[in-house]
Amino acid sequence: MTVAERFEQVQQYIPDNVRLIAVTKTHPVDVIQASYDYGHRHFGENKVQELLAKKELLPSDIVWHMIGHLQSNKVKQIASFVGLIHGVDSFKLLQTIDKEGKKNQRIIPCLLQVHIAEESTKFGFSPLELKELLLSKQMDEFKNVEIRGLMGMATFTEDKGQVRREFKMLKSLFTEIKQNWYSKVPHFNEISMGMSDDYQIAIEEGATMVRVGSALFGERDYSSNRTF
Ligand SMILES: *Cc1c(COP(=O)(O)O)cnc(C)c1O
Repeated sequence: MTVAERFEQVQQYIPDNVRLIAVTKTHPVDVIQASYDYGHRHFGENKVQELLAKKELLPSDIVWHMIGHLQSNKVKQIASFVGLIHGVDSFKLLQTIDKEGKKNQRIIPCLLQVHIAEESTKFGFSPLELKELLLSKQMDEFKNVEIRGLMGMATFTEDKGQVRREFKMLKSLFTEIKQNWYSKVPHFNEISMGMSDDYQIAIEEGATMVRVGSALFGERDYSSNRTF
């Protein structure tokens, strides 16, 4: 199947008001270029080094989404251009993003990652930690970050009922936070949830962004030491 056919197959389940982030980690630049030629502009990567190497070789109007766990010491390398950081999971990271945003004279769009999965391996704030963060005075001092919404990853399981419950939880947390903290903030309107195996459920439960990799580009090969 061509890249265009893959996109069409996935996109038929994605309404116009939901943004598809094409997750291209481990895939070479020619795959991204083919997606770009098809008309796609929003791509997600989870490693700073890989993102930088690819960006260098690709058109400059691509919107890069940093979707994985981000270390504070790497923020400066992407601060000048990153379109959206999905996985903000600590106060320290937020502080660093603000600082680097200031240096680059831009306001960096971010999503706060919430731990919704039963698995203990995933990063993110608990709902309680998130509310504590939002209550802290220091949040008002961040002038160079813009909190656009929440991001979450469901448990890796065959149990679709569980996945749906986790997405429902993120949606209701989003609604609560919107009402209490961001009711007058129109840009707080994103819920990034759903991947290849569960994006249709995520959309039914209120996702505004889905992050899809293998359904578009096939299985990832982590063993090859490709230089993209
Ligand atoms: C890899 C990744 C995805 C995409 O996963 P697929 O199952 O291949 O669609 C989505 N979100 C994050 C944070 C990822 O790391």
